[in-house]
Amino acid sequence: MVHKAHPPARPVRAFRFDEHIVRRCDVVVVGGGAAALCAAISARRSGASVLMLESAPKALRGGNARHSRNFRIMHDGPTPFIQGRYDADDVRSDLRRVTGGRMDDVVADRLIGESAGIVGWLSENGVRFQDAGDGNLPYSRKTAFFHGGGKALVNALYETAARLGVDIRYDSEVYWLDLGEGLAPSVTVRCLDGEQVLSAGAVVAASGGFQANGDWLRECWGAVADQIVTRGTPHATGTVLKGLLDLGAAPVGDAGCGHMVAVDARSPRFDGGIVTRLDGLAQGVVVDRDGRRFADEGSDIGPTRFSVWGDRVARCAEGLAFSIFDSVIERRFRPSIFPAIRAGSVGELAVALGIAPKALEQTVGAYNAAIRSGGGLPDWRTEGLDPPKSRQAAPIAVPPFGAYPVRAGLTSTQLGVRVDERARVLDRCGIPMDGIFAAGVIMAPNVIGRGYLAGIAMTIGAVFGRIAGREAAAHARR
Ligand SMILES: Cc1cc2nc3c(=O)[nH]c(=O)nc-3n(C[C@H](O)[C@H](O)[C@H](O)COP(=O)(O)OP(=O)(O)OC[C@H]3O[C@@H](n4cnc5c(N)ncnc54)[C@H](O)[C@@H]3O)c2cc1C
Repeated sequence: MVHKAHPPARPVRAFRFDEHIVRRCDVVVVGGGAAALCAAISARRSGASVLMLESAPKALRGGNARHSRNFRIMHDGPTPFIQGRYDADDVRSDLRRVTGGRMDDVVADRLIGESAGIVGWLSENGVRFQDAGDGNLPYSRKTAFFHGGGKALVNALYETAARLGVDIRYDSEVYWLDLGEGLAPSVTVRCLDGEQVLSAGAVVAASGGFQANGDWLRECWGAVADQIVTRGTPHATGTVLKGLLDLGAAPVGDAGCGHMVAVDARSPRFDGGIVTRLDGLAQGVVVDRDGRRFADEGSDIGPTRFSVWGDRVARCAEGLAFSIFDSVIERRFRPSIFPAIRAGSVGELAVALGIAPKALEQTVGAYNAAIRSGGGLPDWRTEGLDPPKSRQAAPIAVPPFGAYPVRAGLTSTQLGVRVDERARVLDRCGIPMDGIFAAGVIMAPNVIGRGYLAGIAMTIGAVFGRIAGREAAAHARR
């Protein structure tokens, strides 16, 4: 298959990297997050010269990984970093359950198999993990936690990459890829000083999704796109993803899907990170701008309870909802990083939120009247209410009353390029595109084409980053 497309016309001011770097570059890694770092280190350790191009400035390097804290790994028994046992069949069946089977079994099996050794590999490359038995972590047999969080992981991997001799360039956005028609592929990069075309033995695309690209989101999601915030990096614009698709890479996943959670509506447009997530939606009630409930708040009270609310809230008028509680309920969940809006009565609270007081009073009154409180709190539920609250239906009765404004926070989009188990990007005929590899969110929908599994994103980045780097180095040598 011929892969050909034309770069977007734009004025070019010539700029050159040092000649020796360009000439000796075996592998170009596009991106600066966890997947890119693992690819760069792996390629360098495999003997390749590596140039890493990160569009963010140094202070914002690391993509979404700097917001992360744990990842999911297969293991056959306890280790200092993870408890219990979570074997390959367990991981596979969790993946199958959340994706409804929308996964490539071969790619998923490679991920699961290599996840077993990824803690050791990351440790060798400077990442530290939290001791599972130190009493500071909740029991977890599925995920290991990064000591110091994602920021520490990113800093450690950058340090290792630099020490190994990876040439790291910040403020360097790749906006065009050329496949070289059987010769070396090349990328066109825009830096602070101008633009340059760089050729390489192989290119690893590790530039994430398109969750920060408002225009593309609007094209796929409609007006909803303007109502959401992006939880992570503003640099995930999907430029390279789009370029690869235009060049004939096979798409995988769904442009209309993304992973979203409930966040405080006062969060910044980008990079709010983990602290803006709202925890207590299942405890009280959630209403829209008209003061109406629109979902069963008790339907999901497990550890991933925030992830069901992203889609729900995004569909509300103006993409806005309100989590409503009283002073008793408020003690049962972690507060927002922003202060609660409070009032002495439900009517006054409605006024403070811009909701018609009668509407909210009626919603809360009907909800309180419908509660059947037998057994423990988890079993309290409503009867005869539509929508019902099927669990944790505690009355909203003791002032002061409180509320948080809620918006959907987008973690990442779920459209990617198809790869094989060697991280080679495949075209629409299933043929590897010569010298082009992908790792991380840009290929994650091969494994998780739908749904959400906590911690799997960082595993995909680390495992396929490592594989892509190794394979790209081998390709460049050939
Ligand atoms: C708040 C938050 C918390 C999270 N917590 C977890 C967690 O605990 N566990 C977990 O598994 N996952 C978590 N995730 C998801 C996880 O962080 C990401 O899935 C993972 O970091 C993705 O890695 P990546 O390298 O593929 O992409 P990204 O992190 O999106 O990195 C993409 C990189 O490419 C660069 N880039 C983009 N376009 C270009 C271009 N054209 N040229 C050059 N560079 C470019 C960007 O600057 C960026 O550095 C979290 C995400 C968020 C937002």
